[in-house]
Amino acid sequence: LTPFMHRIQLPRNMIENSMFEEEPDVVDLAKEPCLHPLEPDEVEYEPRSSRLLVRGLGENEMDEDEEDYESSAKLLGMSFMNRSTGLRNNAAGYRQSSDGSCSVPSLRTMVVCAIVLVIAVSVIMVIYLLPKCTFTKEGCHKKNHTMELIYPLATNGKRFPWAKTRLPSNVVPLHYDLVLQPNLTTTKFAGSVQITVNVIQVTWNIILHSSGLNITKATLTSAGWNQAKPVAVLEYPIRDQIAVVAPDALLVGQNYTLIIDYSSNLSDTYYGFYKVSYKDEHAEKRWLAATQFEPLAARSAFPCFDEPAFKATFLIKIQRDEQHSALSNMPKVQLSGIVQDEFSVSLKMSTYLVAFIVANLKNISKETNRTLVSIYAMPQKLGQVEHALDTAVKLLEFYQKYFHIEYPLQKLDLVAIPDFQAGAMENWGLITFRETTLLFDNKTSSAMDKKLVTAVIAHELAHQWFGNLVTMEWWNDLWLNEGFATFMEYFAMDRTFPELQTDEEFLKVRFKTMMKDSLNASHPISSAVQSSEQIEEMFDALSYIKGASLLLMLKKYIKHDSFQAGIENYLHNHSYGSTRSDDLWDSMNEITNGTLDVKKLMKTWILQKGFPLVTVKRQGKSLHVQQERFLRSVESENWTSDASYLWHIPLSYTTNKCNPFLCPYAYLLDQKSATIELQEEVAWVKFNVDMNGYYIVHYAEDDWNALIDLLKNNLTALSAKDRAHLINNIFSLVGIGKVPLLKAFHLLDYLVKENHTAPISQALFQVNLIYDLVEKRGMQDLAARVVDRVEKLLRSKIDQQTWTDDGTISEREFRSTVLAFACSHHLGNCRTTATKLFEEWKASNGTKSLPTDVMKTVFTTGAKTDDGWEFLLSMYTSSVSEAEKHKMLEALASTEDVRKLIWLMQTSLEGDLIRAQELSHIIATVIQSLPGHLLAWDFVKENWEKLIRKWHTLNLETAYIAQPEMHIFLTPQVKTFFESKSEKVSQLRCVKEAIETIQLNIKWMERNLATLQQWL
Ligand SMILES: [Zn+2]
Repeated sequence: LTPFMHRIQLPRNMIENSMFEEEPDVVDLAKEPCLHPLEPDEVEYEPRSSRLLVRGLGENEMDEDEEDYESSAKLLGMSFMNRSTGLRNNAAGYRQSSDGSCSVPSLRTMVVCAIVLVIAVSVIMVIYLLPKCTFTKEGCHKKNHTMELIYPLATNGKRFPWAKTRLPSNVVPLHYDLVLQPNLTTTKFAGSVQITVNVIQVTWNIILHSSGLNITKATLTSAGWNQAKPVAVLEYPIRDQIAVVAPDALLVGQNYTLIIDYSSNLSDTYYGFYKVSYKDEHAEKRWLAATQFEPLAARSAFPCFDEPAFKATFLIKIQRDEQHSALSNMPKVQLSGIVQDEFSVSLKMSTYLVAFIVANLKNISKETNRTLVSIYAMPQKLGQVEHALDTAVKLLEFYQKYFHIEYPLQKLDLVAIPDFQAGAMENWGLITFRETTLLFDNKTSSAMDKKLVTAVIAHELAHQWFGNLVTMEWWNDLWLNEGFATFMEYFAMDRTFPELQTDEEFLKVRFKTMMKDSLNASHPISSAVQSSEQIEEMFDALSYIKGASLLLMLKKYIKHDSFQAGIENYLHNHSYGSTRSDDLWDSMNEITNGTLDVKKLMKTWILQKGFPLVTVKRQGKSLHVQQERFLRSVESENWTSDASYLWHIPLSYTTNKCNPFLCPYAYLLDQKSATIELQEEVAWVKFNVDMNGYYIVHYAEDDWNALIDLLKNNLTALSAKDRAHLINNIFSLVGIGKVPLLKAFHLLDYLVKENHTAPISQALFQVNLIYDLVEKRGMQDLAARVVDRVEKLLRSKIDQQTWTDDGTISEREFRSTVLAFACSHHLGNCRTTATKLFEEWKASNGTKSLPTDVMKTVFTTGAKTDDGWEFLLSMYTSSVSEAEKHKMLEALASTEDVRKLIWLMQTSLEGDLIRAQELSHIIATVIQSLPGHLLAWDFVKENWEKLIRKWHTLNLETAYIAQPEMHIFLTPQVKTFFESKSEKVSQLRCVKEAIETIQLNIKWMERNLATLQQWL
């Protein structure tokens, strides 16, 4: 999955109301009282004792056993959830509302409730699962705790025979025969699934997933039986589980076929089997149905064993209207007449990768290496798919060569879906995309748009191996999928499209991820997860970017050839199987063959949150290096980091005596400190070459001065990435009080000579953060002085820019960055030129083409007048280029006219004129202006219930909470608001991150405001 814009914007587990309202037809349902059992998080791990007992909650036991249960629960990571309070002190088992009617927990409560689990369980799992209880102050818990096994109740009041979130492994699926009948007019669908299962341990029950499906009939057959036998189906919606109760014991080694008929509604969220409306080329409203199953929504399209390790083959048949056609993972076999599409049997795969689409799309195709690659889009957008086709073909060829494993399917479809929440989804053979991440329009797509499309295709194609062919066994190792796909995305682009210079993009996202990872609210990339909310919270920048950064560091350390051999080994060893992180390290260790223990090294990075700060002190030829955790803390001025953190850091450095090619990866720092002896004395030393390592470096004052002088006098002695890295490091160190702010600004003085995008955009990023803090405190004067200071350094560069699309990608990006900064701060004659271009464009009624790289800046400037804004809106509604619309929308949302901003947010929330998929982008833009950030906060507060219902929590992170630096003086309000929502909401990771960041911002201001005021 690619989150949109590399922010986390993923399909969330929208639990549909119907799930609670529908009752199974098979079992007796004489209006059972609707009970809502509390949801204890059952214990699946028993790290220290031999007896594992699992408990749910029974009706009456709780009161009697409560105290005992609570203490055990604390120990074992359970939390008690109650739909009214969510707190364990109200853990009264099942409850019935006073009127006897079925009271359905609100979605928000469901979502939020489970968040408590996230926190509690992850903390306890860390304590329990990490080797040697590394992070507990008390050491290991060794007591055996015995508890009775208690099962929850099914919807019909009978005992549900399974008490865990994870499915049992006594029955495994081998094959699914799935027939689906979606009706785009009624927006309902009917389905029938035949699942062939194999019995591993004798049992009377088959436990599998089902969510929101109205099951009408269920039977079971076996080769040994004369005929299919009807079976009872028990449902436990809280965990999306059903239990099929067999008429006889199911015998070990035997295969059985479970047949389930059911119906449901096409979802109106972006998750599961969902429907989307769009306007066709004649402006008529049409419907399309598509799927998004990752992570947990296959179960809402068909009953299945919905865990990644339960791989099986799938035969899919779609019955549809005559005017539509269907696509699925596999090629069509065209056997079954005009209203049914049948697809060939799939390879062995996980449920979350199954996909199908019913629509009226058009495509272009090209064959490569016996695979037919096709790009699908709405007919009127078929002119924008060629770039994607060429790119996909090239990348597919690259990956096959690089991994030495052929892409195993005969076809690969890439489909642009008109309303799509994430960036893209890697379904095997049928990859789905947001339109902006697949379509490329020569007239309106910029250099950055081209990079985005290429990157997303590279990411999803990498998944065809990392994720689809070899899959993580469980979501705790999601980083194996996402970290790898992200790493390969940049690597493949660098190899296949070097002119795009995407390695600098990778650097940029690493900087941002480290900001997040240096908060206390961060988490290890491999963290134990159970509940759906915990699983969804894993789809964050850490799994993606930190995962990729660690692989980059490893590759640089063990050298490219070993790294390639290691992953080839890994893919071969585990094709069509499931893996854990350790399997990857084992495959690498086969290559390093005792010279380096990759597992030992990498465990320190994936099982610990955060990253190290390496402090270097030079004395003659000796370099003293020392590591501690880099933590942005609000606690005290002189913080000391938690001493239990220790990383194995492959250190690299460059000096005036050796360039990066000659300088070795000199040292593996696996202790708190060490001394490196140089051959001779050097004038300067810079650690973490090109920032290929995931750590921040601090130097003694003399060494900082030497580096600052070097930048001023001989900047090419360091690479552009090294220069960007120094800027990033020094401002990060200002943030924790290790370096005075003036020194950081002093370093920036070299920018007069800088011509490269990476360092300039890093400098502008840091300056903008400071500008925002000052401006949003209402200190406009001081904010202007901050900008003045930077303008002096960049003035000549701003003046040199032309308003064209000429030059290399890097030059084009540079122009785009510098002019956007200049126009937004009214520097030079930027706005005059932009206004002139806008007026010409407007006079031509939008037909005159604008340079794509500065198009957004032109629109933004034009949208500052009422006339311009209105015209832009009218063009927005008629444009067929998503790339252009994206720029227009950002311009519309950057106005400071409060009424317009409210209208935009409201309209997108409704989702008609402006698609709902755009709302987070709108809010993220609105928030940047001074009036906007207050407004956006009000909007979020007022619509909290709707937002969390439609987008879940992680999208709020993207939209609002991920921008906490924008609302420094709102702290008490932010805190009070979230606390008023309940303890559960204030426990959300994104909320914790927001509050932590706000406090850090306040701290930053306390520390640096006086300096700024005096100096500027
Ligand atoms: Zn992905």
